[in-house]
Amino acid sequence: MAEANAVRGLVPMDVAGRADRVRAAAAEANCDALLVTNLVNVRYLTGFTGSAGLVWLGPDKLLLVTDRRYGEQSEAETGQAGVDVRIEITNDAPEEILTGAAAGVSRIGLEAASVSWADQRQYAEWFDAAELVATSGVVERCRQIKDDGEIDRMARAAAIADAALAEVCPLLANGPTEKEVALALDTAFRRMGAEKSAFTTIVAAGPNAALPHIRPTDRPIASGELVIVDMGAVVDGYRSDMTRTMAVGEPDPEARKVFDTVRDAQRLGVAQATAGTPIAEVDKACRDRIAADGWAEAFVHGTGHGVGLDIHEQPWVRATADDALQTGHVITVEPGVYLPGFCGARVEDTVLVSDNGPRRLTRSPKDLLVG
Ligand code: ZN
Ligand code: ZN
Repeated sequence: MAEANAVRGLVPMDVAGRADRVRAAAAEANCDALLVTNLVNVRYLTGFTGSAGLVWLGPDKLLLVTDRRYGEQSEAETGQAGVDVRIEITNDAPEEILTGAAAGVSRIGLEAASVSWADQRQYAEWFDAAELVATSGVVERCRQIKDDGEIDRMARAAAIADAALAEVCPLLANGPTEKEVALALDTAFRRMGAEKSAFTTIVAAGPNAALPHIRPTDRPIASGELVIVDMGAVVDGYRSDMTRTMAVGEPDPEARKVFDTVRDAQRLGVAQATAGTPIAEVDKACRDRIAADGWAEAFVHGTGHGVGLDIHEQPWVRATADDALQTGHVITVEPGVYLPGFCGARVEDTVLVSDNGPRRLTRSPKDLLVG
């Protein structure tokens, strides 16, 4: 059936070109080599998806170290990604392999956010002739700009979320529990060809919708309540992220106004998602609109985030962001208003910054009333 073909005919990604870009970024961070231990970054550089492995990225070496469980898989995945990488298999500590690779290298970058204290002490012993440099976000900065293959995967993940929501929406008329709706969405994602849900699906109705990241409960959804549904799918490692706020039956006027304000704020934020625009302007557009209706204090989270191999990644869409948007950025725009004990509303799209302006990858309608 057509639905299950989400990964058929994917546009190729340029995985092989990533090592050189990360090398340049590591050099900017004053490192001659980078020891990549964050598994998402390992995947980004090599295509390898196993649960154990690290990458040595030296001036002229790309080395993937993993264990015997992943011998065949690492060969197959890096080959399929078209990456020229030396693979070393060891079930013991990779000391000898890494110290051999590090010979003559004077400054070795570690990924500070993914190295434990114990690991750091170990590396300090192994690389006693070199200086260890705590780096932050070197690979992540390179991951911000997506190529056509990455965009294709995210667009498919977004299309699956759209189709799943359209399929599940009519259920809301039957007074289901939040958990039942979440399960129906998760099941639809898988049936439609996604690997899995991009994160724990959020379905929150009535007063629960005032808690931005609550897990679905056994509470039945009642007529006239605002229901926040925040969902995403994964296709070949890449994620989508979308929130809609819906209601079966017209809510009371205050809740309706909350929704209308948030939907309008979100539209204004998306319109700012153009190449060259300071990221902070996206946040400001949303925040100003919500403040104009007196709910500035009720917008309790950032406006958005980058999406890709991780559900939350660079760039962060907030007032303190320094950078400007570039073509190839994929961000979310997701303002919300939360009134404790009463209701909440959030509207979110995954948006590609393209040469032709903002392109929403998530396309579901934003009408409040469903069912
Ligand atoms: Zn979301
Ligand atoms: Zn999000």
